[in-house]
Amino acid sequence: MPRPTLARIDLEALRHNYRQASERAAPALAMAVVKADGYGHGIAQVAQALSDAPKYAVACLEEALAIRAAGLLQPVVLLQGVHSAGDLDLCLQRGFEPVLHGHQQLDWLEQGEARPTFWLKVNTGMNRLGFHPDELADVMARLDRLGARPGLLGFVTHFACADDNDSAMTEEQTACFVEATAPWPELMKSVGNSAAHFIPGQPLFDWSRPGIMLYGGSPLLGKIGPELGLKPVMSLQAPLMSVRTIEAGESVGYGAGFVADRRLRMGMVAIGYGDGYPRHAGTDTPAAINGRRIRLIGRVSMDMLAVDLSNVPDAREGDVVELWGETVAVDEVARCAGTIGYELLTGITARVPREYR
Ligand SMILES: *Cc1c(COP(=O)(O)O)cnc(C)c1O
Repeated sequence: MPRPTLARIDLEALRHNYRQASERAAPALAMAVVKADGYGHGIAQVAQALSDAPKYAVACLEEALAIRAAGLLQPVVLLQGVHSAGDLDLCLQRGFEPVLHGHQQLDWLEQGEARPTFWLKVNTGMNRLGFHPDELADVMARLDRLGARPGLLGFVTHFACADDNDSAMTEEQTACFVEATAPWPELMKSVGNSAAHFIPGQPLFDWSRPGIMLYGGSPLLGKIGPELGLKPVMSLQAPLMSVRTIEAGESVGYGAGFVADRRLRMGMVAIGYGDGYPRHAGTDTPAAINGRRIRLIGRVSMDMLAVDLSNVPDAREGDVVELWGETVAVDEVARCAGTIGYELLTGITARVPREYR
């Protein structure tokens, strides 16, 4: 019998969250961001469940090919563009829309014959990728010389601080983007990760790009997904495989980091950092059993972790422990581990089977 540690994926919740994104994006359309294996949920299943989406977005070509392998024909935006001249042929053949962000990518366009449809990335302050606003006129002239202008769909930029309500940066970046692209009003504009969907009055132009919110994770600092009307899509579950009582003064696990201050009923759960559960989640990180909240104690091991069962006296070996999902938001666990829900969801390893409903 396989170990009953698994990630249940609720595709109805995913569709609910996509509808939330679409409503918040309107009149912009929302491209469904399904990179990193659908944020760890399985790219083929996620893309299929969101087959109403007019466009998908991924980081790289392999992910776009996975969407085609799942039988889906919508355009797929490659958020990081391409990594070779040959990739552009593939984009043309398969209907992928690379976001070209630098001169090397234009060189590849120059070297080849393929003229796929594509986007241009504008650097409005994130300073990861993209052309500086001052360069855009030259870039457009170069595209004209290459005969590539007809394939240009529009401009993309990415916000650095949309998760932080107190930051003025999103407003500044938006103004910069509007000004930089003003000479080409006939072309489309795309901004907006999930967080931007929750900023009152934020324009999302033609296409927004929601990712984490589709999976029920919170894009906003200090919030959890359910507070934003989002439903958790992944429920990470593992069996309680051993229950024991320890005395005051006894410790639990590696490094003897947790010491009981009283007699304590505790249990071991069959999941650990080898499954992608964060090792930095310490004592007091929440989990749940039979719908009731419990807490972790001691260090997370590779294949198991310890929980305090004092407030669930009826918990028995074989009961299902939810590490995150309906009762405990992934964002809460992330906070306890000093990270974000994104990292936890994308970090679940191949050892954990995904089960869809
Ligand atoms: C990943 C990504 C998104 C989605 O971001 P979320 O915060 O998950 O909504 C949008 N745009 C770009 C360019 C991205 O890389």
